[in-house]
Amino acid sequence: MIKAPAHVLKVKPYVPGKPVEELERELGITEAVKLASNENPIGPSKLAIEAAALALAGVNRYPDGGGFKLKQKLSDMHRISAGSIILGNGSNELLDVAVRTFMGPGDEAVMARPSFVVYAASTAIQGGVPVEIPLKDHRHDLEAMAKAVTPRTRMVFIANPNNPTGTINTRDEYERLFRLVPEDVLVVLDEAYFEYATSGHYPDGLEYLKNGACRNVLVLRTFSKAYGLAGLRAGYGIAHPEVIGQMERARPPFNTSVPAQAAAYAALDDQAHIEKSRLVNEQGKEYLYRELDKLGVQYVRTEANFIYMPFDNAASAYEKLLHEGVIIRPAGENALRITIGLDHENERFIEAFKKLIAPGR
Ligand SMILES: *Cc1c(COP(=O)(O)O)cnc(C)c1O
Repeated sequence: MIKAPAHVLKVKPYVPGKPVEELERELGITEAVKLASNENPIGPSKLAIEAAALALAGVNRYPDGGGFKLKQKLSDMHRISAGSIILGNGSNELLDVAVRTFMGPGDEAVMARPSFVVYAASTAIQGGVPVEIPLKDHRHDLEAMAKAVTPRTRMVFIANPNNPTGTINTRDEYERLFRLVPEDVLVVLDEAYFEYATSGHYPDGLEYLKNGACRNVLVLRTFSKAYGLAGLRAGYGIAHPEVIGQMERARPPFNTSVPAQAAAYAALDDQAHIEKSRLVNEQGKEYLYRELDKLGVQYVRTEANFIYMPFDNAASAYEKLLHEGVIIRPAGENALRITIGLDHENERFIEAFKKLIAPGR
């Protein structure tokens, strides 16, 4: 039997949030709720659905491999040249493209722990070495991360807001980091939850690209979260055109589909949908904070659409909640991550959670 190299076999396959249908099938229940994958609970924009449906008639043709129209629109929206933009099959793919572009065997990538698991997996698959720096007070410790950079370091990954903790790093912290990291190390600012962040200290990564100050920054955004298009797979990266030009060599041809490009384009015209998504998220957040406060349980205040709760025996809590028809996500052994949902979904979680922490009450 063919065997993959050792560095590949070391990588654990990504475990996605459990689909609702799977749980219902397994337990013979209905009306399970999924608060596990940071999906937008209000759904996609109607404009995006219509555009994707219309585009389906043309799928005998390959997509525009360069994504001309979508890039043009993003370029107008962000006031940055189209040559600074790369499209991906979700931003996940662009993480992988960036690693394949810039890292070789034995090269190091600095990242936080816990943070998005794909950074370490992509790095390791490429034969690179993930260097994981523990969070400090649930936030990226950018000073420690800067100190961990060695001559072998090619990339630094920052999820801002961080997944799974929902915390942010500030403008001041960025600026200190940028001063310390050498020009030939790529700093990836993964802003998958950009649209949800409300803090006045939250930096827009694009600011660092616009004034031309940082030539070694790659900003990643996605249509999967606030835009509600996770199932279509579309994301984009913005960086100096020379960074993008190099990444284009590693990008698979036709990586964003015809309906994905059409839906993403239309979704950008529906900023009212984003506003509504933010509002629903803020209301759900306040409700969950209130209820968790009443229960006296610990949680981390979030700048995203999920809440991180330090919790012992997370795996067993996860299983028990599944039996109540509520799918959340264990975040390591000692924490839970709950996506903020619609009112009735948040209420279902709170009811199930009450049973979990005070059985028989
Ligand atoms: C969800 C998420 C992504 C985006 O995934 P897509 O591939 O765009 O669906 C990227 N980074 C982080 C930290 C995420 O949580």
